[in-house]
Amino acid sequence: MRAAVLHAPGAPEAFVIEDVAQPPVGFDEVLIRVGACGVSFRDVVERNGTYRRDVSYPLIIGLEISGTIVERGEGVTRLHVGDRVCTKAFSSCGNCRLCREGRETTCAERRTVRGGYAEYVVLAQDACVQTPADMPFEVSCSLGPGAGVALNALRDTAHISIGETVLVTGATGGVGVPAVQIARGMGAKVIAVTRSEGKRAMLEAVGAHDVVVAGPADFAPQVRELTAGRGVDVVVDTIGSRVFDAAFDSLAVHGRYAMVGQLFGESISINPARIFFKRAQILGVGSVSRVQLEDVIALTARGMIRPEIAQIMTLDEVADAHRLVEGGATAGRVVLKP
Ligand SMILES: [Zn+2]
Repeated sequence: MRAAVLHAPGAPEAFVIEDVAQPPVGFDEVLIRVGACGVSFRDVVERNGTYRRDVSYPLIIGLEISGTIVERGEGVTRLHVGDRVCTKAFSSCGNCRLCREGRETTCAERRTVRGGYAEYVVLAQDACVQTPADMPFEVSCSLGPGAGVALNALRDTAHISIGETVLVTGATGGVGVPAVQIARGMGAKVIAVTRSEGKRAMLEAVGAHDVVVAGPADFAPQVRELTAGRGVDVVVDTIGSRVFDAAFDSLAVHGRYAMVGQLFGESISINPARIFFKRAQILGVGSVSRVQLEDVIALTARGMIRPEIAQIMTLDEVADAHRLVEGGATAGRVVLKP
């Protein structure tokens, strides 16, 4: 099968398109003919060597996978040949204490989903969820790491209520866009932050009530103005250190800060008094559970979540796709089709 293979970490040119052996299908695994694979920022940090969990070379990356099951292992009962599926970012064991508590995203036995930059990929059945027959692969591929994480943040971690105000940083990103759509659908007032005036119209079309165009360090005054000085009830932060100060300043007293992403390596320092004076809750959000993925598939089928697709490219264009995602100039998902 054809695949984009990395033999060492490096720049976008490090990908080599090769013919490689189709991987064998294990007991609880399925073989998927890849229909589409989203290019995420995690792919960028896996390619350049920053992200090292379970990495060895040669390496085929790509975790936002959708496709059709063409073979299944003997232990697979929930999925069938011919099913269309999309993926979580990890598979989990389903049996440990954390899994049984509904905390499968921190399962100690979890395995990284990878291998979507190829014609076929083998994955544990736990990582896969069925999608409707009429949902395009380029729509379903990114639902887990995109909308699924947004649902995790808003509904299951920050527990937003109707009438609250939610600030989304990195609002044109893969988690940002569905976060705006879901927060609006849950009855929140949504303020979206972006660096680029050119992305304002897209964010308004997606559903933001207010769009703040500002640099990463200086949007808090505008957010205060939009909330009559009070600040927002919830921050969904998909950027991390570079916006933390401004986003934390934008938070109302008793607000909840959902930390979803850290795109850059640098650390922050914070005087702990800022946290208790504000009575703030800082909440870590990680990945997506199978239930959350099932729910965002249903919400997408109903039209509440509408993934923005910036560009569909071929496997041969993988280096260009990475340059696009790394450059941050796109609004919406970049998707590869093998
Ligand atoms: Zn487990």
